[in-house]
Amino acid sequence: MKKIAVLTSGGDSPGMNAAIRAVVRKGIYSGLEVYGVYQGYAGLMNGKIKRLDLGSVGDIIHRGGTILYSARSEEFKKDESQYLAIEQLRKHEIEGLVVIGGDGSYRGAAKLTEKGFPCIGLPGTIDNDIAGTDYTIGFDTALNTVISSIDKIRDTATSHDRTFIIEVMGRHAGDIALFSGLASGAESILIPERNHEINEIVQKLQKGIERGKKHSIIVLAEGVCSAHDLAKSLEKDYQIETRISVLGHIQRGGSPSGFDRVLASRLGARAVEVLLEGRGGRAIGMQKQKIVDNDIMEILSQKDPLPEGVYTLSQQLSI
Ligand code: ADP
Repeated sequence: MKKIAVLTSGGDSPGMNAAIRAVVRKGIYSGLEVYGVYQGYAGLMNGKIKRLDLGSVGDIIHRGGTILYSARSEEFKKDESQYLAIEQLRKHEIEGLVVIGGDGSYRGAAKLTEKGFPCIGLPGTIDNDIAGTDYTIGFDTALNTVISSIDKIRDTATSHDRTFIIEVMGRHAGDIALFSGLASGAESILIPERNHEINEIVQKLQKGIERGKKHSIIVLAEGVCSAHDLAKSLEKDYQIETRISVLGHIQRGGSPSGFDRVLASRLGARAVEVLLEGRGGRAIGMQKQKIVDNDIMEILSQKDPLPEGVYTLSQQLSI
C-alpha cells in the first residue's frame, strides 16, 4: 500500500483535527502518501481529493471542527454512488480510507469495504454512542463544555432560588447528560435509556424544598423530550415554575481537551497501522486503556451500553 486517504463525515466533534493530523503524520512517517477528502462522502463522490503534506496538518491539533469539513449525503447511500466514490479514490491510486465520524459514517465505510475498498472507522462524535470504544473523540471536550455551562447556570439558580432545566445533546444516548449531571451535582438527570415518570421528578424537587433547598438543576437529554415541554407540564400540572436553557451547538465546538487530543492521536495512528496490515472493515477504539480494533459490522450491530453503575451512582448521590 502506497497511498491512503482520510475524511471526516456527519456531525463534527472536537478532536477530529487531531485525528486527521495523526493519520497524515503517521502515514508519512510510515512511507505513505496521504490524501485528504474534503466534505465527507459528498466530496468523495465529486473527487474533492488533495494530497496532504506534513505542513498541511500543522497548527491544527488544538482547533475544534475539521479542516477537511464535514457533510451529510443521502445520495451516498445508493450503491452506484459508492461505486463512484471508489472510482474517484482509484483515480488517485489510493488503496485505503480512514473515515472519522459517527455510526452513519461507519455504515458508509462498511459499504465501501464490502464493495472491495478497505476502510477504517474512527469514532468521531460527541455522543459517546459507538460500541467497541469506551470513549469517542470529542465526548470529553463536550462534557467539559456542558459542565462549565451548568456551573454558570447554577450560580444564577442559587442567587434567585430557581429550578433550571438544562437541555443537552443526546438523541439516543444519554452519556453527555449522565456524566455532566453527575459531575455538576444535578438533582435530576433524564436520559433516553431510562423511563422517567414526571411524578418522580416532582417528588425529588419537593423533597429538596422540604429540606430547605430552593434551587435545583435538572439535566435533560434532548432524546427524552424538549425542555420547553417539560417546563410546561411542570408548571401546568404541578405549579412548579422553572427556567430553561438549551445548550445547543456550543457543545460541538471549542478546542479539544487534552484527553481528546491524546485519544485522537492514538486512534488515528493505529488506523494507519491496521490499513498497512492489510485489514479493512475495522473500527478502532480504546477499551480499558488499550487501543483495539473490531469488525465494523459487529460494532454497528451492537448497542453501546451506558457505563456500568454510573446511572445508579448519580441517583444515590442526588437524594
Ligand atoms: P454520523 O456519522 O455523525 O452518525 P450521519 O448519520 O449523518 O452522521 O451519517 C453521515 C453520512 O454517512 C451520511 O450523510 C451518509 O452519507 C453516510 N451514511 C449514513 N448511513 C449510511 C448507509 N446506510 N449507507 C451508506 N452511507 C451511509
